[in-house]
Amino acid sequence: MKSHPKSDTSKQLESKLRRSLMLTYQRLYTLGFGVGNDGNGSARINSTQILITPRGVDKARMTPKDMVRMELSGRVFKSGQLPSSEHLMHLEIFHTRPDVKAIIHSHAPYATALSFSKLTLTENYLPELMLALGPVPTVAYAPTGTQSLATAVGVAIKSPQVCALLLERHGVLAVGDSPEAALQRLERLEHGCKILLLAASSFGALSPLKET
Ligand SMILES: [Zn+2]
Repeated sequence: MKSHPKSDTSKQLESKLRRSLMLTYQRLYTLGFGVGNDGNGSARINSTQILITPRGVDKARMTPKDMVRMELSGRVFKSGQLPSSEHLMHLEIFHTRPDVKAIIHSHAPYATALSFSKLTLTENYLPELMLALGPVPTVAYAPTGTQSLATAVGVAIKSPQVCALLLERHGVLAVGDSPEAALQRLERLEHGCKILLLAASSFGALSPLKET
């Protein structure tokens, strides 16, 4: 019997990532970070291939086999499968940041609401958030699914210090070593945005902490 340990490992990794993306999206849905077929996620298989959530499928009901395998060039392996309509943004991040293994994007309500304000999380409004995530830039509005949004996202996330972004009037995304790790960052960011919005609605305009 011939064995192919290298390809077996790659297959095992792919099947682990398919399941991981599915479970991450079930959790995301449970957390209320998306409704229906909102949001999308991806995971790197190797230096040239990724898995990404499919277009137009209810994220809470996805199965591992629904995940779309594609090359960073944009080619989809299985004909008939459609990747997320926001795949250009994911490809741009994987090109720009070889260290990124997974990306989770959603329209989480508090983070999305905060993206309308002039308040920018590159400043230290909430020390716990800055400590956990570092600076979180806001990407200026560009229509969803376009190359102009993808390019702007690539520029904003270029620094290895940046692990999350707000997308103006759109949503939020976080990157990590796995879909679970990216979701955990997204969850922290959503919680921080909720606190800031509560503080702003109670006490008016907020100021960043001055460095000492
Ligand atoms: Zn979106």
